[in-house]
Amino acid sequence: MERINVTKSFLPPKEEYQAYLSKIWEASWLTNNGPLVVELEDKISKYLNSQYFSFVGNGTIALQIAIKALELEGEIITTPFSYCATTTSIIWENLEPVFVDINPQDLNINADLIEAAITEKTSGILATHVYGNPCDVEKIEEIAKKYNLKVIYDAAHAFGVEYKGKSLLEYGDISTCSFHSTKVFHTVEGGSINCHSEELHEKVKLLRSFGHILDNYYVAGINGKNSEFHAAMGLCNLNHLSSIISGRKRVFRIYDNLLNWDHLEKPTEITPDLVYNFAYYPVVLENTEITAKIMEALNKENIYPRRYFYPSLNQLKYLTNYQSCPVSEDISCRVLSLPLYPDLEDKIVENISEIINSNL
Ligand SMILES: *Cc1c(COP(=O)(O)O)cnc(C)c1O
Repeated sequence: MERINVTKSFLPPKEEYQAYLSKIWEASWLTNNGPLVVELEDKISKYLNSQYFSFVGNGTIALQIAIKALELEGEIITTPFSYCATTTSIIWENLEPVFVDINPQDLNINADLIEAAITEKTSGILATHVYGNPCDVEKIEEIAKKYNLKVIYDAAHAFGVEYKGKSLLEYGDISTCSFHSTKVFHTVEGGSINCHSEELHEKVKLLRSFGHILDNYYVAGINGKNSEFHAAMGLCNLNHLSSIISGRKRVFRIYDNLLNWDHLEKPTEITPDLVYNFAYYPVVLENTEITAKIMEALNKENIYPRRYFYPSLNQLKYLTNYQSCPVSEDISCRVLSLPLYPDLEDKIVENISEIINSNL
């Protein structure tokens, strides 16, 4: 029985990648802003209609560079419902994460609770568009303006999502993305930073390459660069993006039609102002017992959904002060992301739906 995981990395036809390998060998330029990195940045900028886009080593270094570039300090308001990198990037920069609970509909940070969490030490908000569902960007912008806070969006799930006519990566002072091989669009390992001014863009590029240009050393930067080999994978995959997304949409629609919604909730709502990328298929079950039962029933058939996201990040053991987030803590124990990738066969999706329905 074939093992079915929550996702499967897309691979382009090998010849397409090999054609780029020949170019790399010809140019003998492997990293440090080589021609393929420049070409990828150019093509993605056009695709996103973004003026200031930087390709970096991964989605985590993107968050760290974003925090550094915006010179955040003290406390950062953040979501407990995300991948751990959202929280650890704050801790890694020696800042204090302040968790604001999520709303139970779309599982994003509850913008109505943000103001109450602001103190004189707050310098920014770091929120995730979880599963590619947009946060309440209007409300968050309004609060940020009022209190003079910077906004970073962890848009790791949002490549290909448009909200109100523009890429979701174009919101906030900075949006970061991940191009890890498990994401909708990938460069094996990789990530990106979008911002909105030439000045900030130059700062990001400086921070990403050790903080120096030739013999001039400006700031204490880091190595956040990415290579020609990774850019080549991105250039191949970019050409397949629309078929990747439509393949995911097909699977998405089958689950939509077959699952028994009397006993399940779906956090993703595709509103008319949203162009979605079909990144994840999360379902929220009625309680932890049913969740465990369904996990077990699926695992028995060699099917492995994932608890995206568990644990709730405010409960990470290495955090010293516990901050309660009841909604996130509750939902993280009964959410499952179901297998979703472009070439997942209809009959497997039907089988997964049947197993779930019969255990609800
Ligand atoms: C994948 C992911 C990251 C980390 O990205 P990497 O490229 O693996 O470093 C950060 N935040 C979220 C929400 C993610 O899903």
